[in-house]
Amino acid sequence: TTKRAYNFNAGPSALPLEVLQKAQEELVDYNNTGMSIMEMSHRSKDYETVHNEALSRLKTLYAIPDNYEVLFLQGGASLQFTMVPMNFLSEGKKASYVMTGSWSEKAFKEAKLFGQAVEAASTKENKYRNIPTLNEIQFDENDAYVHITSNNTIYGTQWKEFPETGEVPLIADMSSDILSKEVDVSKFGIIYAGAQKNLGPSGVTVVIIRKDLLEKANTTIPTILKYTTHADNNSLYNTPPTFGIYMLGEVLKWVEAQGGLKAIEKNNDEKAKVIYDVIDQSNGFYKGHATLESRSLMNITFRVTDEELEKQFLAEAKEAGFIGLNGHRSVGGCRASAYNAVPFETCQALADFMVEFQNKHS
Ligand code: PMP
Repeated sequence: TTKRAYNFNAGPSALPLEVLQKAQEELVDYNNTGMSIMEMSHRSKDYETVHNEALSRLKTLYAIPDNYEVLFLQGGASLQFTMVPMNFLSEGKKASYVMTGSWSEKAFKEAKLFGQAVEAASTKENKYRNIPTLNEIQFDENDAYVHITSNNTIYGTQWKEFPETGEVPLIADMSSDILSKEVDVSKFGIIYAGAQKNLGPSGVTVVIIRKDLLEKANTTIPTILKYTTHADNNSLYNTPPTFGIYMLGEVLKWVEAQGGLKAIEKNNDEKAKVIYDVIDQSNGFYKGHATLESRSLMNITFRVTDEELEKQFLAEAKEAGFIGLNGHRSVGGCRASAYNAVPFETCQALADFMVEFQNKHS
C-alpha cells in the first residue's frame, strides 16, 4: 500500500489519494486518446468535456444560482486582489475592506492603487485573533463593494456568518475555505479562491460572479483582466490551466462521493475538534491563537507556551512524520491545516502526538 504523509501543509496541500491515483492511471492515456489531458488542445472535444463538467459540478455542489457565472482563471487569488478593484472601483466610489489578516491587507493595498479604499473594520489591534462582529462593520450604501477574507489562513480565523450588505456587492476571498461547508452563494457579488487548498493543484483560480456585476465593470482595462472577457468565452479566451482544471473536476467528483458539502463540513468539524480539544484540555501547555468564536476549521493555529519546548515540539513532530506544522513565517508558532482532503485519522494522529508530547514534558 502507498505510504502517505501526515500532510498539514497550508497550501499547496493534501489532495485526495483516490484523485491522485485516478490521475496517475489516466496520465499517459486519457480516455483512449493515447495522450494525457496535458498534451491535448484546449479546443479538443475531450478537454471541452472535462472543462464543462468541472464547471457544472461546481455549480451543482455549491448550489450556485443561475444568475452567476463561474470562471476558471489564472494568477492566483493575488491577481484577484488587483482584478476586483480594476473592474469595479471607479471615480467617485469607494470600496470597504474588512481587515482580518495579512491577505486582507494585501487585497486592500492593491485596491488603493486604483481608487479610494477604506477599512470597514479591523482586528489588527487584537493580533487578528478574531473576526469583527457584524455590527462593527462600517460601509456606505454607495460603496462599490465590501471585501472580506472568509478564512484567514495565517491567523487561523474564519467567518461563521456573513454581513448583510444589501445593494452593495459583498466580495469574498475564500481561498482557504472554499467548498469546506455549505455557503449561500446568493449573499455574494463575487467569491474567488486559488485552487491549491480545497480544490486541486495551484494554477487555477475559481471566480463566482453575479452576472449583473459584469455589466457594470470598467471597460478601459486590459482585455485579459476583464471578467467579461472570460465570461464571454466560457473561460477559454486563452489557454486555461488544463491539467489543473482536470484535477479540480476529479476533486469535485470526490467531494460528491463523500456525500457533498454537508458531509464534508461534518467531517471538517470533527477533524478540527480533535485537535482543538487537545489544546483546550492542556491546562495552558498549548494555547490557541484565535478566540473561540472565530476559530477556523481549516487552519488550527497554536503555540506551545514554552518557547524552547515549541522548537522541540516542531522538531519532534517532524521526526514523527508530521509535515507542515510550522506557523507562517510572518507569525511563527504552529499551524495545522486540515483542509477537505486531510483524513480524520491524520488529525487524530496529531492529537495523540500532542497529548504524548505534553505528558512527556510537563
Ligand atoms: N488569500 C488567502 C486567504 C490565501 O490563503 C492565499 C494563499 N495562501 C492567497 C490569498 C494568495 O493566493 P495565491 O497564492 O493563489 O495568489
